[in-house]
Amino acid sequence: MGPKSSSGFYLSRTSATFLSLLLAALILVIIILGALYARTTPPQWSHHICDTSTSLENITDPTGRPGVWNNPRLPQNLVPLHYDLELWPRMQADDEGNYLFSGQVNITISCVEVTDIVLLHSVQLNFSYVGLRLLGNKSEMDQNMESHGTHYKLYAIDKSTLQESKAYKHLQDPTYDIPGGNISTKSVWTFENHSYVVLELSEELVAGNLYLLELNYTGFMRQNSALFITHYKDFNEDKAVVASFLEPENARAVYPCFDEPALKATFKIRLVHNSSYVALSNMPAVAVSEREDKDGSVWTVTTFNTTPKMSTYITAFVICDFDYVNITERGNEIRIWARKEFVQKGFTNLALSIAGPLLAYMEDLFNVSYPLQKTDFVALPDLDVEAMENWGLITFIEEALIYDPKKKLRNSKFRTSLIFSHEIAHQWFGNLVTMKWWTDLWLNEGFASYMEYFGVTFLDSKLNRDELFTMHNLQPIFESDVGAHSNSVSLKKDLYEVDSSYMFNEFTYDKGSALVRMLSSFLTEKLFIKGISSYLKTFSFSNVDQDDLWNHLQMFIDQQDEVQLPTTLRHIMQSWTFQRGIPLLTLNTTTGKVAKEMFKTDNTDNITSDSNHSWIVPVTWMKNGIEQTSLWLDSKSKVFPLMTTAADEWIVLNINVTGYYRTNYNKENWNRLAKQLETNPKAITTVNRIQLIEDAFTLARYGYNEYGTALHLTKYLEKEDEINVWYTVLKHVMSSDYPLVTYTNFPLFKKYILKRINPIYQRYANIIRTNFDEAEDDYFIQAHIELILKTACSFGLQDCLQLAHELYATWMKNCSWDVIPESIRDPICCYAIANGGENEWEFAWEMVNKTEDMEIDFLFYAMSCSKEPWLLHRYLQYSLDMDKFSAFTLFHDIIKHEIGRHIAWEFLKENWQRIKDIFGPRATVDFYNVLLPIFASKATSDLQFQEIQLFINTTMNENQRERVLELVENKRRKCLGWTSKINDEILNWLQSNIDEAQI
Ligand SMILES: [Zn+2]
Repeated sequence: MGPKSSSGFYLSRTSATFLSLLLAALILVIIILGALYARTTPPQWSHHICDTSTSLENITDPTGRPGVWNNPRLPQNLVPLHYDLELWPRMQADDEGNYLFSGQVNITISCVEVTDIVLLHSVQLNFSYVGLRLLGNKSEMDQNMESHGTHYKLYAIDKSTLQESKAYKHLQDPTYDIPGGNISTKSVWTFENHSYVVLELSEELVAGNLYLLELNYTGFMRQNSALFITHYKDFNEDKAVVASFLEPENARAVYPCFDEPALKATFKIRLVHNSSYVALSNMPAVAVSEREDKDGSVWTVTTFNTTPKMSTYITAFVICDFDYVNITERGNEIRIWARKEFVQKGFTNLALSIAGPLLAYMEDLFNVSYPLQKTDFVALPDLDVEAMENWGLITFIEEALIYDPKKKLRNSKFRTSLIFSHEIAHQWFGNLVTMKWWTDLWLNEGFASYMEYFGVTFLDSKLNRDELFTMHNLQPIFESDVGAHSNSVSLKKDLYEVDSSYMFNEFTYDKGSALVRMLSSFLTEKLFIKGISSYLKTFSFSNVDQDDLWNHLQMFIDQQDEVQLPTTLRHIMQSWTFQRGIPLLTLNTTTGKVAKEMFKTDNTDNITSDSNHSWIVPVTWMKNGIEQTSLWLDSKSKVFPLMTTAADEWIVLNINVTGYYRTNYNKENWNRLAKQLETNPKAITTVNRIQLIEDAFTLARYGYNEYGTALHLTKYLEKEDEINVWYTVLKHVMSSDYPLVTYTNFPLFKKYILKRINPIYQRYANIIRTNFDEAEDDYFIQAHIELILKTACSFGLQDCLQLAHELYATWMKNCSWDVIPESIRDPICCYAIANGGENEWEFAWEMVNKTEDMEIDFLFYAMSCSKEPWLLHRYLQYSLDMDKFSAFTLFHDIIKHEIGRHIAWEFLKENWQRIKDIFGPRATVDFYNVLLPIFASKATSDLQFQEIQLFINTTMNENQRERVLELVENKRRKCLGWTSKINDEILNWLQSNIDEAQI
């Protein structure tokens, strides 16, 4: 599925702030609903099974006896070959307000091992008929079927020789009745632990025979369920759309099936729907007919072409009243679907302009033909993820697909390009070649995530792929891949008891793609692309584990001399995919010794059970700006005589950070790097400048180095014109979690930073004042300019404050939302209000109340920046008339600011009973859980801290108090420890270096 929203593009501040609260509430609701559902709607068996007339009750594990159903994986004795599936969703609610769907599926299965039990998946489906029939002996088909393990490539059947086959006739036309006996059934029941339907048969199924499993059933559509209905407005009319989202294991909630990714089959799908709606599925529609129901209503039946062999989780269904724009690229019809209003306004044009070129580009890059004749891209008003790669029917949440040129949502062009690239890459990585089991999900997601960067840089050649990957992928995953919560990319064991959705995490996506990038780098891109192209061809319509990938690439490595590896590719890559954490390489340029260890942020992180730190590390490096022959580090440490330096020489490891590791150096080398940056920064690549700073600050934060080492690297910054380098520096300097600027060092830091930031600030201020539209499509400026402005204004740069005043005053004059570009609204409005008065504040409040627009979080934040105590106090009063989420956000914003924090503390003390009365005791505890630790972290004396403890003790009952006190104390301890650690270190460094730095 698509890039997760945690990549942070558009989670609003409100959303982000309440995520934890919402999550807790959501879990509770799910538990309650789950319990209610389980109690009220047991599956029903309404009538006969096969040739028995016994009415069957739903029984869960009727005897408690153990059996194959205890295994969470399906037995491999039956293999589905083909599904003939009809779905009929009712878009009108029944008398009880439920949206029903009915279904009928005939599954052709091949018996490969004798059995008297049929197991398949089903969840929350109510069956009205279950039958099993013998189709015939498959030997008549064998000579024409290509065997691959236990799976059969039906698509590869030589059809001409089979046309007389009865089984084949049935596959082509399910109404063709094959003579053959029914298989009688002893019992049919569900085993809910593993979502199984169990058919216990009176006779054994014979290996070598084909059988037809027939099931009729009903289910309910719900919000966020596998098949769901969403109501929305189009041109002010009420509309509804039905869509599916089946990854990882939700196909079983729409149709009973063998719901494992390796059990690929072909699918012939029919959708029954109202004639005014359009039905879409993976393949093009091939027939449309009518059907009359028992009430005399006429329905449309749309039948789709048979799919290639594919996994259940990428089957897809949409029934909608959308419009579309289309184009044909290389014989592939591309349609972009959205609500009619959006299509008419041209919001689908961006998607239409990129979909075809991206499909053609990836087809050429992988050198594997796209196997489908049509591809639909559908913008849904509701979807749990940003996008889902269903083969031939890719679904998106609307915000990820539509583009309103007037609204200019921040980064939306870039974001749409990125998501489209990801989903289109999945058509090969995931849909054509699929992982055997979810533990190797990274073979889908890691590759699709890496290919995103090929796609976006193909669409926008100004973007540097390495720089983009470093900023967008490596920085966040390097930060996350530490401590006990980090995971390995792949798991050696099956996910027996773990929900398969567990694998959809940042390690699968971001670390997975970083490892693919490292692989591509040490193989060379040429060999890598050649190898994966062959891998995609070899395993088309089939499944793989990572060994298949390594062994396949190894063949290409063995055929050439240019790239030499120290051991097998499998050995190298398994040292990365099965280990969590990130290595730290430390080079001593005096001795040439490189040592390897796990990078730790906490001494208590001693978990080594799944990790022996045995990464085999490709070491690229440069000396004095000249790239050297790369080396391998396959032991804990190694001496490389070439890596010693003379007095004026320096070394940088990990060129362009293609290796998945951090680097540290002896002090001499750090100092020489700092000196080199001061004389000629461009001798070191932009990506390496970014990473040197990123590593130096991170190593200082966790005690590997002193802050002086990191700060030394910033002395040259007056000469730095790359916004990504600046962003990386400021991300550390302005961090709110690990703040470097304190009351004590503020005046020195101010002098130090303002002198250096002024040139780059002036450059962007000039662009903002003259023509910011030109920067509209520059992703890096849009993403990072906010931090430059925020830093300049917060250190009091006069021109920055003036700029904020100018833009805000113009906005107040003409009330046009376009005056302040979206990417700089936060700092501009905040500092305009902070340095303005009542009029500026009132204008913001007026705009908040005047607009229905959801994107007004920045105004709520801006109003909290006021330095007028009475305005802040009144703002807090207003919060009591808001919903609890808005009120909470408002408090949270206000206490980020010095003056606001004092006002909010007094207000909270005075009004805690009122707050409790208005928002309820539960909400109050949530408030306190989050807000009080922040107050505690900012307490500058024991007296203040004791006051907070007293407040907790007097306002909360004993049960609630314990948790909040613990949070408050932890936060206080961490902050005190942090401040005392850095205070002297940074102050001393600034004092020794400020003279030469002064303006
Ligand atoms: Zn994906």
